[in-house]
Amino acid sequence: MEKITNLCKRRGFVFQSSEIYGGLASCWDYGPLGVELKRNITEAWWRDNIVAREDMVGLDSAILMHPKVWEASGHVEGFTDPLVDCKSCKQRFRADQLSGPKCPECGGELTEARQFNLMFRTFMGPVEDTASTIYLRPETAQGIFVNFQNVLNSSRMKIPFGIGQIGKSFRNEITPGNFLFRTREFEQMEIEFFVKPGDDADWHERWKAERFAWYQRYGIRRERLRLREHGSDELAHYAKGCADVEYEFPFGWSELEGIANRGDFDLRRHSETSGKDLSYFDEETRERYLPYVIEPSAGVGRPLLAFLVDAYDEDVADGEERIVLRLDPRLAPIKAAVFPLLRKAGQPEKALVIRDVLKQHFLVTYDQAGSIGRRYRRQDEIGTPFGITVDHQTMQDDTVTVRDRDTMEQVRMPVERLATELRARLAPSAPPPHDVDGAARAAVE
Ligand SMILES: [Zn+2]
Repeated sequence: MEKITNLCKRRGFVFQSSEIYGGLASCWDYGPLGVELKRNITEAWWRDNIVAREDMVGLDSAILMHPKVWEASGHVEGFTDPLVDCKSCKQRFRADQLSGPKCPECGGELTEARQFNLMFRTFMGPVEDTASTIYLRPETAQGIFVNFQNVLNSSRMKIPFGIGQIGKSFRNEITPGNFLFRTREFEQMEIEFFVKPGDDADWHERWKAERFAWYQRYGIRRERLRLREHGSDELAHYAKGCADVEYEFPFGWSELEGIANRGDFDLRRHSETSGKDLSYFDEETRERYLPYVIEPSAGVGRPLLAFLVDAYDEDVADGEERIVLRLDPRLAPIKAAVFPLLRKAGQPEKALVIRDVLKQHFLVTYDQAGSIGRRYRRQDEIGTPFGITVDHQTMQDDTVTVRDRDTMEQVRMPVERLATELRARLAPSAPPPHDVDGAARAAVE
């Protein structure tokens, strides 16, 4: 794990937030490479779950919402953890995570547990009183539920269909930690999929299979993934059933994504609290009902960390040890690096032209500093899948070598074929994401 965090800082994937002021606990900033990796993950998710499906649409709701939303959702009352304070060292802990009655840091005496609400509170407008109290959303899901009728009325979607959203959420965790794994500000990729009651169990199975397969499609190895069903004692108050996609991190098996059957809890509560009828009228069967909801809810930071951990490798190249990130090329921050073998004979100029042409299609970098071996290894370490080298032969026949990050094999090809070739290698080779009955389902079994 330390190797990953070091690499993240050294190469500009992730920095500590506000580092020059000593940092802000469990808040992280994505650097130049991290932001590209994160964008590639969210774009892959959006493409596979929204763009490629007929039964999904997207949404981007505001972080700040009417306070009544959180009363209806149960968060004001129930989104709490039991908190205890150490009377000696003043540290705070989650009572349900302690193994004994004493402070785990200093052995001091602990206070009685009290319920602590995890929502961040602030004030809207210039008056700071209870009437203006507002929350930073602890999940993006509620923005989808309160827009359910808007989407129905403005689109031609018919049940079963879903609404997807990517956005920031905030939870004032008592004990965050493990780098990007548990942070107080985080990004979510959430789907609320609305189905007819009675069809929910089947759709729940389909989404579990689909989401479990998705991580493998982007290169996470099967043996480090598992689908774990929640026991009845772990289920959230609203859930009829839930399964987690878990990854085996260096610190143990942990959740990447939860796929819950929320029943009609949310639409029912919002109907009751708002007084607006959120039921659905099925024109074919002439039935009116409150839809049930299947919710595949993933973070962004956790999958990003899992992709990094899973891709990290050390091996030997040309007699030297190298670090290599074997990221799926679609997720890799930089798609190709262009190198002149020599810093003369027109090679740098030629390499810069190639870079500029490819930059119209992909994120491509140029490097002429140091030996060619060192330049390859700099790119291996950040997961760049292709290295393009301009050499003396390029100046004669307009061909270059293309080196593969993983096999280190080099093939020579005409410059004019580069864009087409790279595009082909970066294209998805997987079945369409909604093929849940076939390949995706087989992958779970
Ligand atoms: Zn203590």
